[in-house]
Amino acid sequence: MAPNLHTEPTSGMDRTLEDAIKSATESRVRTVLLKICNENPVCREAVSKELLLVTTAEEGETVKNKKRVRQAYELCIHSEEEYNVEENELEGDLCQYHPGSRDYDFNHSKFDDFEPWRDGDPEDYEDDPDFADAFKWDCCGGNGVTDGCVVTKHQPDETKKTKLMRV
Ligand SMILES: [Zn+2]
Ligand SMILES: [Zn+2]
Repeated sequence: MAPNLHTEPTSGMDRTLEDAIKSATESRVRTVLLKICNENPVCREAVSKELLLVTTAEEGETVKNKKRVRQAYELCIHSEEEYNVEENELEGDLCQYHPGSRDYDFNHSKFDDFEPWRDGDPEDYEDDPDFADAFKWDCCGGNGVTDGCVVTKHQPDETKKTKLMRV
């Protein structure tokens, strides 16, 4: 029996599109998404459901029963993680970070063969995963691989956050 092309789970064309999305640059995907949202109300609605969060006015606000629209995902200023705004409000302890700064421990064995004239400034190795345990946090004394000593809510980076809009 000849294979029936119509019963294939995904057509070749769909797979090609998925591959194109996966390999496209972030800025290309953004440009395409903005264009589609501007041109097509149905797509605009679908993307809004994914990226926006609608809440009712907070207590104490003068305008009652007004809905607010905000981003559903934000970037945390402490952990630099993207988080789900609603989940963050409910859980309250999703963020774990070190409030201090890291200093290198020049007595650590990782620095045994370190020669500043050849290897440069030890501080430049702060973000090098190979040197993580040779740096100490001044907030808790933990090293670069120790979990954050403060557990709290994620906090939005106000410079990257869009203003609340009333609808
Ligand atoms: Zn700490
Ligand atoms: Zn965080």
